[in-house]
Formats: sequence, structure tokens, C-alpha cells
Amino acid sequence: MSGVLEVPAGSGDSGTTIPFTVIHGSSPGPVLALVAGVHGMEYVPIVALQKLRTAFDPAHLSGTIIMVHAANMPSLLGRTIYYSPIDRQNLNRVFPGRPGGTLSERIAHVITTEVVDRATHLVDLHGGDGNESLRPYAYWITSGDPAVVAGSRALALAFGLDRIVVDAERPKDPSVSMYLSNTAITRGKPAITTETGGLGRTDPEAIALVERGVAGVLHHLGMRNEGPPPLTAPTWLTRNAVLRTSATGLFFAAVDCGHMVAAGARLGHVTDFHGRTLEEARAPFAGEVLYIVRTPPVTKGEPLAMVAAAAADSARLQ
Ligand SMILES: [Zn+2]
Repeated sequence: MSGVLEVPAGSGDSGTTIPFTVIHGSSPGPVLALVAGVHGMEYVPIVALQKLRTAFDPAHLSGTIIMVHAANMPSLLGRTIYYSPIDRQNLNRVFPGRPGGTLSERIAHVITTEVVDRATHLVDLHGGDGNESLRPYAYWITSGDPAVVAGSRALALAFGLDRIVVDAERPKDPSVSMYLSNTAITRGKPAITTETGGLGRTDPEAIALVERGVAGVLHHLGMRNEGPPPLTAPTWLTRNAVLRTSATGLFFAAVDCGHMVAAGARLGHVTDFHGRTLEEARAPFAGEVLYIVRTPPVTKGEPLAMVAAAAADSARLQ
């Protein structure tokens, strides 16, 4: 069943809608939420869920799949990176939201109450934003209840992306969960965030990673009898750093995502609008570039790149 959730009008905006699909299997089981488009210019998961909507036969499915096809319609239709064009907020920083808040906060509230609260497991499907070149990876959040942490780890292995960022830094208070996956985790439900695609593209290879990932999760949860096996030896990235620009200007990357860089390696430089170099971005430790901004404009405080390493890698390359 496909339809739309209504986000009611608030002061200064007319509300929005959230397109969703619910697929009930023929026997009971977990309720898996798959959410695309929290960031509206991350197109790969949005296109992947359109394909997956008709991919599963309910007769061979246990439990229920809830798909959110585009969580952030204002950003999708407004073609904005990071922020809503209506309230300039990042939807993935305002969870669990609130009913009387900004449009982003009301979207978050509807997703929390209508999707997260009904689910037993959640996958928040992201990618490089419209300005970011990204090498596929997943986040495994390790703060929280040990049983939930273990369940989230199993989801990450089942999804199958071979780089897994280990993140111990997320809030533990469900009333300020900030991130969608953390909203599920702080409510006792295993969840992961996945990253595939980038630069506003809809490349088939990245879409296939999402299809493979969802099939792996359904198999792992016992919702389908078939599906790819979980990863046995991913690279656990225990150290990561997001480099942010201290100046507004134009950024020119010197490396691309997936490159291994040494500690201190130049990742790119920021110029002013006349072309004078304002600053250089350098790797804080040896590791792999998971994403890097590949379109010029950057605003003070925003990310330029993310570098991550397994403990062994950062020791070897330094
Ligand atoms: Zn995102």
C-alpha cells in the first residue's frame, strides 16, 4: 500500500507530504523501516526504494516493510543540500522533532511517531550530498543499550558495505536524539545509517548497493528466505574526522573519495572569490577519504571532507 503522510501547516508554511509504502508479509515478523531522502539531494536511495517497492512478493515475506520514499520533500523539490529551503534546518539534526515546531521539526515528529515508533529495525539511507563525492560506507552507532548495539552491528554486516564507521559519540537521550538512526536506537530499536552515491547522480552501481543491502537485511532478519550473506570481514573504521572549512569561498579538492592519504597530506585548498588561497585542508591522520566536496562553493563551518581509518591503517601509514 502506497500513500502519503501529511505534515500539517505551521506558522509561515503550508506543511508538506511524505510519500510512503507499507508491504505486509503473509506471516508475522519484524517491522523494517527503510527511509530515503532525509537529505533531498541524496538521490540514490530515493531511486533505489522506487525499484524496491515492487521487488518483494508478500507471499514470501514475513513481517512488514515500511518505506519512506522521500522524507524531506521541501529539500528534494527545492534541490537543496544539507538544509531545508523553508527553515534552513538540517532535518538529520532535529530529531525527534516536535509537533508545533519548524517544518523540519514537524517532518521529524511525523517520521518519529508514524515510522520509528511502529518499526522494530530501521535503516536510514543516505549518500554523498549534491556537492559530495563519496565512497560507500555505513555508520554503526555504539552508544546505547548493548542488545541494541549488537543488533545494529548485525544490520551493518547484513547490509554489506565493506567500510563501517564505528561511532560512539551520539546522544543517548531519546528527547534529543538529533539523528534519525539514533532516534530508533534511543528507543530500543537497532538501526544503521548507510551512505551510497553522491554528487546529485543516480548511478546504477550505487543503486545496486542499496538493493543488495536491503536484500541482505531482509534475509538477516528472517523476513525472506533468500538474500546475500552478511559480510564477515569489513573494515571497521574506528577513527574518523570531518574536516571543516574556517573560511567561506571556493574549494578545490586535490584527492578523491576512496584515496588513501598519509597524515598531513594535502586534500585541497579554499580560495577567496578572487582566487587567492585562504587555507589548505590536510589529513589529520593517515586514512581513507570517505567523502570530499567536489563542487566549489563552501561556507565557513561546513564539511570539506571526511577521513577515516582502522587503528591498524593509521599506525601503518604514519
Ligand atoms: Zn545525508
